[in-house]
Amino acid sequence: MPTPAFSVCVYCGSRPGADPAFAEVADQVGRWIGAHGGQLVYGGGRSGLMGVVADATLATGGRVVGVIPRALVEREHAHRGCTELLIVDTMHERKRLMAERADAFLALPGGIGTFEEFFEAWTWRQLGYHDKPIGLLNQNGYYDALLRFVEGSMAGGFMDGSQMRLIEVGTAWEPLLQHLVSAAGLAQPDRLHAI
Ligand code: AMP
Repeated sequence: MPTPAFSVCVYCGSRPGADPAFAEVADQVGRWIGAHGGQLVYGGGRSGLMGVVADATLATGGRVVGVIPRALVEREHAHRGCTELLIVDTMHERKRLMAERADAFLALPGGIGTFEEFFEAWTWRQLGYHDKPIGLLNQNGYYDALLRFVEGSMAGGFMDGSQMRLIEVGTAWEPLLQHLVSAAGLAQPDRLHAI
């Protein structure tokens, strides 16, 4: 398999969520990555949106790197169909490897695991541990309340606009994903083939 054109780490729910649009968008994101010769890096599970995005990337010929702690192999149904399934000892190792293997990060709807991963990528960028683009997909307003909370934090004097400029928030998956890949400097969207 040739070297991937780009590598995107996708954080998303280990559950499918209540709105069928969430699984649809996870499928489209995975298909876009595969169809554009990209690589998906994710948590290595088969359940929920995580399984959907991985299956869609594989179905369209993309590489999938799954990184899962040994203790979660059963609980999160490790995806044995990954191009590479890395079974690691700790959650810290998982997150470090996921960050290292990616050129950009994208958070889809998810639960506290997704929140934690997204906020860690964001805080690491703020601290200068990496300078990779980070996107938050606010699908169907799922993250509206979180974004209001963050605005409240700015009003409360604990954050400022410079931190907001470290992330890209979008309501449409395709322009957001194209922006992340382009900002990572690895492939120009206009040179990528449409699905
Ligand atoms: P969730 O969004 O809660 O469904 O979880 C999505 C993924 O995040 C799952 O693969 C979880 O194992 C993972 N996760 C849960 N807790 C953490 C954590 N503290 N750090 C990183 N990932 C986590």
